[in-house]
Amino acid sequence: MNAAAHVLIVEDEDHLAQGLKFNLEAEGYRASIARDGETALEITSAPDAGIDVILLDVMLPGCDGFSVVEQLRERDDRTPVLMLTARGRSEDVLRGFAAGADDYLPKPFDLSILLARLHGLLRRWAWQKREPGAAMPAEAEASFTFAGRTIDYDNLELRVNGRSIRLTVMEADLLRYLVRHQGRSISRKELLEQVWRMREDTDTRAIDNFIVRLRRYIEIDPANPVFLRTVRGIGYRFDPQSKSAPATEDLHP
Ligand code: CA
Repeated sequence: MNAAAHVLIVEDEDHLAQGLKFNLEAEGYRASIARDGETALEITSAPDAGIDVILLDVMLPGCDGFSVVEQLRERDDRTPVLMLTARGRSEDVLRGFAAGADDYLPKPFDLSILLARLHGLLRRWAWQKREPGAAMPAEAEASFTFAGRTIDYDNLELRVNGRSIRLTVMEADLLRYLVRHQGRSISRKELLEQVWRMREDTDTRAIDNFIVRLRRYIEIDPANPVFLRTVRGIGYRFDPQSKSAPATEDLHP
């Protein structure tokens, strides 16, 4: 299914960009290169851009990778973004996730790991876009509704009292995992392993940025969450039927 998937490589180091393009094309992908953030934003804004996934280096001349992904999300572009960060800079991972990146890989990386990560993002994205031949995961639910909120996994959309919020693929995947394991305390490590498939030493605070965003979407008061609570010393717990939720808030005429 990845035969025609189009990867945009945003990297200013020419030898690295060309090497990635060569290897991705050898794997059957289409690949384009943008040498700076401004060019990447220009390419992706074209109506017929057709970019399926963005491989985004953090260190770029001018507009850096964080700013690129932030601007993409601001204009409601949900294209999956895999950030390439410098090894040992966990703050970059936290910043990248906060800006709206879906996944990251520290440089230097093994090509096989890059391909596996790309494949994971594309599988989710292709399913959402319903490309012909895209396999629908057998266990997948179409949506989940709780307390007047509907998570529409198919359309990467969250509807809260008539308001529609667009989700990234990883936000939707994280919500799906929380829904499946509702009522149970889940550690940050478990979320990173099960949702992001990360095995290496990742700063588990990386997950917190996603939780903050999800709370902004689903909670009435994100600072005092009732659905997605922090479990001290462990992680998080999702209680869709929370009794603490004000009953009147979701009353519809
Ligand atoms: Ca660079």
